[in-house]
Amino acid sequence: MNQVEETMSYVYKNPNAPIEDRTKDLVSRMTLQEKVGQMTQIELCVATLDDVRNLSIGSMVSGGGKEPLEKAMASDWAETIDRFQQAAVDSRLGIPLAYGIDAVHGNNRFYGATIFPHNIGLGATGDADLAQRIGAAVALEVRASGIHFNFAPCVAVCRDPRWGRCYESFSEDTNIVRKMTSIITGLQGQPPVGHSQGYPFVAGRYNVIACAKHFVGDGGTEKGINEGNTISSYDELESIHMAPYLDCLYKGVSTVMASYSSWNGCKLHAHHFLLTEILKGKLGFKGFLISDWKALDRLSEPRGSNYRRCVYTAINAGIDMVMVPYRYKQFIEDLISLVESGEIQMTRIDDAVERILRVKFVAGLFEYPFSDRSLLDTIGCKLHRELAREAVRKSLVLLKNGKNPGKPFLPLEKNAERVLIAGTHANNLGYQCGGWTRYWQGSSGRITTGTTILDAFREVMGEKTEVIYEKYPSPNTLSGQNFSFAIVGVGEEPYAESAGDNSELVIPLNGSELISTIADRIPTLVILISGRPLVIEPLLLEKMDALVAAWLPGTEGRGITDVVFGDYEFEGRLPMTWFRTTEELPINKGDNSCDPLFPLGFGLTYKKENLQSK
Ligand code: BGC
Repeated sequence: MNQVEETMSYVYKNPNAPIEDRTKDLVSRMTLQEKVGQMTQIELCVATLDDVRNLSIGSMVSGGGKEPLEKAMASDWAETIDRFQQAAVDSRLGIPLAYGIDAVHGNNRFYGATIFPHNIGLGATGDADLAQRIGAAVALEVRASGIHFNFAPCVAVCRDPRWGRCYESFSEDTNIVRKMTSIITGLQGQPPVGHSQGYPFVAGRYNVIACAKHFVGDGGTEKGINEGNTISSYDELESIHMAPYLDCLYKGVSTVMASYSSWNGCKLHAHHFLLTEILKGKLGFKGFLISDWKALDRLSEPRGSNYRRCVYTAINAGIDMVMVPYRYKQFIEDLISLVESGEIQMTRIDDAVERILRVKFVAGLFEYPFSDRSLLDTIGCKLHRELAREAVRKSLVLLKNGKNPGKPFLPLEKNAERVLIAGTHANNLGYQCGGWTRYWQGSSGRITTGTTILDAFREVMGEKTEVIYEKYPSPNTLSGQNFSFAIVGVGEEPYAESAGDNSELVIPLNGSELISTIADRIPTLVILISGRPLVIEPLLLEKMDALVAAWLPGTEGRGITDVVFGDYEFEGRLPMTWFRTTEELPINKGDNSCDPLFPLGFGLTYKKENLQSK
């Protein structure tokens, strides 16, 4: 048989055949072992080429960051991933891998990638078109590194800022989160008119498979505890936390990730009603449902015990692909034996595999499995950095401007005589980017290429201005020199997931003391770099001349100077209610009894006269 004849006889190999026919044809040719292999997602650091080929592994992942650092250049990764892809393509049926990563604010594992503001900042922009353009840029930088699958966006509705993942949420307000799901249309491309709701969509080889996470109620847990318990009626769950998923399904989101959290005491990974009856049934989701990282292990105490039972529970609840199963060969063995014993029906396995293959066909992985090196130039390119700078500009929320009415402190003068730039966050790119940047928990310092607040001020201020930078200015500096004003960058150190759970929410690293010391002596603009609102004592607020919430802006610090010097207007609006004390928490839109420091949607702007006088 020549190649054309062979392609025609294998419907699944024919790119022109309808996707449902290709999917059914391929499933009909697969052994149980191959089906279970497709349901398995393994970590790069433990994967072998032989296993990928011989076990017909469906997907690979690079999560938190165990891989050696020197591998963080996208071109190196593309090479590595292509090698594993070759092994998958060489398997008996040649089913390509979907390689997944958390590119949650840019292709953030890689040195030199454009790092956009975290979701909380995008929520502050309220700009759906901007989010879509960011999604498209991220897709290109991800595809350049040989990766096809992005565990984003997080569409959690964060109801409590004590949650360590608050910054991964666009807002406490369901409607803002719904609006920002437009990022999916950038990541995956725009589905055609009439696209059937719930059916996966990926436009082509410059797009990625997106993943709406974490289904459902992850942002509603008691006291904001990560992986905790959300207690609510079904109606509340649906209207607050599930509503954004409707938008995601409408936009053809190809995958959904289950949440580690529980709803009314039942873990989502075991929740047949929510996963199967609601998501796949009522909402009509036809893509695949992936577990969270080692989440099956958490279905038993102690973790990982009675693993066979955990597999039984999760797969029967509706999980289609298992991310990083506890010892993957054990998982494969357990799942095969559960099917052979009849504890899991073959129809459930076929359904899971059909969903996985459907997404792979939709995404064009059979036609374009390998990295496209011509895209490497898009990583950190000028165009994407401009876009990130625009996002920073639009995400800044002006909370205070001037001590006296009618006397605004901003915009700043570009040719002031002498300025002091101070604070833990004024010259720290890693802090500016936050968690999920290069490393899972983020890091400190020049972890990638970009512009800090200090860099940005130095770029903008004229030659006549003397810029003095001291992280913690000495008493000598503060008393001896005649500064026009000070810019103080303070905020949170990077964190991710449970490490970020925090019931105090004070400005870390003695941020309040630092502000106070400087603001007592010099007129001061405070730039707060944080993934959420933090406690600001009334006295401290009084001392500041201006306060800007900059969230976790990413690599483009120039977006901040664009606005504080008045070249652009402040457009950001609070996506979270700014509480006064932690005793008030949870405090959010639905809570009418509260008297916040700044309400949801708050954000000052320049008066027109100020802009004109610039
Ligand atoms: C997180 C997910 C993430 C996964 C893979 C988990 O710990 O909860 O959001 O996609 O790791 O890195």
